[in-house]
Order: sequence, then structure tokens, then C-alpha cells
Amino acid sequence: MKIVLATGNKGKISEFKKLMPNDEVIAFKELIGEYEVEEDKETFQGNAIKKAQEIYKKLISLNLNEEILVISDDSGITVPKINNEPGIYSARYAGVEANDKDNIKKLILKLNEKNLEKTEAYYTACIAIVYKNETYTVHGWMHGEVINKEVGSQGFGYDPMFIPKGFDKTLGELPHEVKKEFSHRSQALKLAKKVLEVIL
Ligand code: IMP
Repeated sequence: MKIVLATGNKGKISEFKKLMPNDEVIAFKELIGEYEVEEDKETFQGNAIKKAQEIYKKLISLNLNEEILVISDDSGITVPKINNEPGIYSARYAGVEANDKDNIKKLILKLNEKNLEKTEAYYTACIAIVYKNETYTVHGWMHGEVINKEVGSQGFGYDPMFIPKGFDKTLGELPHEVKKEFSHRSQALKLAKKVLEVIL
């Protein structure tokens, strides 16, 4: 059985592959090429469900001679002191075409506007699973703080400005093992694996 990731985000794909080393995990683009799912829901869960269901339908219409299970992830970072931004808009905080660097720049600007050198923040991940036309969702969180500068180059997205609770370095500096153990995505995936144990 193929586990198809309904994401084009290279950082997420690489993390999922490391988190599921014993499964055949492939990105949807390898099967259907370029395809954009519009993320127009108001919650991580709504967007995760939309991505997984839309990719699942596309794959089913290909009549692949194999069972398909689709996993999507909708995630982002929330900073309570700046009106819970960027939240579900994390990927496009600085605009639809924005990249990680642009988004980090905007978040730093917002922190500086409020004279916040360091403030509470948390990552959320919602994972949706679609299998045999049924949809399941789970969530995971990672709490910590964001700082008004970028330090380190590990990870992706906002990692160089995020210090997880219990550490004094950013995810940009910490070894990958820390994220693998504590991240919102790995917490959600632990629960997703429990769902898979029941449904497969
Ligand atoms: P999505 O693809 O719409 O779910 O957007 C996810 C966005 O949230 C990414 O582009 C990053 O900006 C941010 N994000 C989610 N998870 C992480 C993470 O593990 N590290 C850093 N940034 C993340």
C-alpha cells in the first residue's frame, strides 16, 4: 500500500519520510504532477481535510492498481501577543508568493512593532488521513517562544526564530532529533499511527 502525502512542502515531505522510515511514503506530485489545492478553510483541520480529500479523489480517478492512503498536514505558528498571527496563514503570511525568508521577515517586523524581543508562540499541526473514503484527523502542538531574529539554518519555515520550551536555542540550531521527538508534526503523527493501527 502506498502512503501518499498531500503536500508539496519539501520541509514537510522530508520530515514525514524520516518519521515513517518503514513505510512507502511518496509525495502526490510523483503520481499526479503539479496540482494546487486552494486552502480556503478557516481552521488547520478544515484545510488538512480539504487537501487530503481532494488528492485522494484525484488518485482514485487514476484507477491505480493499488490501495491508497492519503495523509495531509496543515500547520502553522501562532503568536498570541500579535493577535494570534500568522496561524493558518503561516505559509502565505507575507503574500501568496512568499517564501520562508519573506515570512520570517514579516514576523520579525510584527514583533519589533510591539517591541517584543521574545514572546510565547506555538506550532500546530493537523494531520488528515483519507482511506477507503473515510476521513480521520488528529492534532499535535509544540510550545515555546519566538525571538525577533533568525538563528541557525536547520529545519524550515519559522524554525530559525522558534525556541522550543525547555531549550535555549532555536530549531534552526538544534539537531534534527529534537524536532523529531517533540514537534507538533511528530506529536500528531504519533496519534495518526494509532489511527492507522485501527483502520488498516
Ligand atoms: P501549510 O503548508 O499551509 O500547512 O503551511 C505550513 C506553514 O507553516 C509552513 O510554510 C511554515 O511557514 C509553517 N510551518 C509549519 N510547520 C512548520 C515547522 O515544523 N517549522 C517551521 N515552520 C512550520
